[in-house]
Amino acid sequence: MNRFHQDFPILKQEVNGSPLVYLDSSATSQKPAQVIDAIDAYYKQINSNVHRGVHTLGTMATDAYEGAREKVRALIHARTTKEIIFNRGTTTGINLVARSYAAAKLTADDEILLTPAEHHSNLIPWQQAAKSSGAQLKYFELEPDGSLDLAKAKKMITSRTKVIAINHVSNVMGTIHPLKELAKLVHAHGGVIAVDGAQSVPHLKVDVQDLDVDFYTFSGHKMFGPTGIGVLYGKEALLDQMEPVEFGGEMIDHVDLYESTWKELPWKFEGGTPIIAGAIGLGAAIDYINSIGIEVIEKHDLEISQYAYDQLASHIEGISLYGPKQGRMGMVTFNLGDVHPHDVATVLDAEGIAVRAGHHCCQPLMRWLNVSATARASFHIYNDESDIDRLIKGLQKTKEYFG
Ligand code: PLP
Repeated sequence: MNRFHQDFPILKQEVNGSPLVYLDSSATSQKPAQVIDAIDAYYKQINSNVHRGVHTLGTMATDAYEGAREKVRALIHARTTKEIIFNRGTTTGINLVARSYAAAKLTADDEILLTPAEHHSNLIPWQQAAKSSGAQLKYFELEPDGSLDLAKAKKMITSRTKVIAINHVSNVMGTIHPLKELAKLVHAHGGVIAVDGAQSVPHLKVDVQDLDVDFYTFSGHKMFGPTGIGVLYGKEALLDQMEPVEFGGEMIDHVDLYESTWKELPWKFEGGTPIIAGAIGLGAAIDYINSIGIEVIEKHDLEISQYAYDQLASHIEGISLYGPKQGRMGMVTFNLGDVHPHDVATVLDAEGIAVRAGHHCCQPLMRWLNVSATARASFHIYNDESDIDRLIKGLQKTKEYFG
């Protein structure tokens, strides 16, 4: 066990008679005591609504909520907190961009460019935007290892490309996409790039100004934070042009019987009582990340993924591994001959090892891989080589069991 393991109370238990090995962090990460304690302290000491009360607790809650926004800003190096919108998660953030920005700007002459490896959350909102505007969906071609060839990608990006919607890191193959280059290409044609960062912010250093991306969404629960909180980053100039998609309390400036006006950024996109405890928990998660160093996390998560890939490739005969051989972030995805991945996950579970099996919310990608489902083992800072060694033993047992 590495030194971070002890920060995560849930990992100290046995499951089905064996010490838990949690290899499902791409679905959701575990939470360190620091995050659990911060949420507990919020409810025990300062629970109040924000932005309205003049009383002491209300002021403290507001400071903690807005303080969390500043932590997010600093983490991804946004220019200003006006560019940081709190919401429920990646799915909610992408829906907001697709409905508010894209649907309003798109016409039947425009194209939206995606990869076939998008999570359903970064696919269906764009299908809907295409349907309502008449714009066309187009897909980059993937290389056999799931990566993008920039020279081929370049040919697809034209003056018709209004939006590139792409993941930073694939949640099936761990592929890391060349965002900076794609941003440059699409900007040269007057389009924007909207990035699904659900699998990247938890593992690698993201600098939205350096990447020059226009929108970037992520979820707190995959980066040691609680469920129910997420972030949409957008360039201020773009967010300023956009209409809210939710209307009501909190987001208004002046309300009359027939007309109303909205608050300034970022609050015009945060209708209703915000996710106060969630944001504070996310702030504590960012403190936790900073206490380790995102560069340390990035190096660890790349190395453990490579170790897992190499060990599986050399010790498990007949295994099919999907995605790049090197440079994968946070996961290995595989099939064990014709054993169904649900059976693989069930045998591993009996050994106390938690992995995910299924289509991973990527049905088109499953068809591209020519499989109906896969098993996925995914990692975070609390995993080490001993966990991978347990996985290997578990898979050897699975093979014996299914003959
Ligand atoms: N995009 C990717 C790449 C993901 O892996 C996920 C979650 O697994 C999502 C989007 C959706 O995130 P959420 O369910 O937190 O909105």
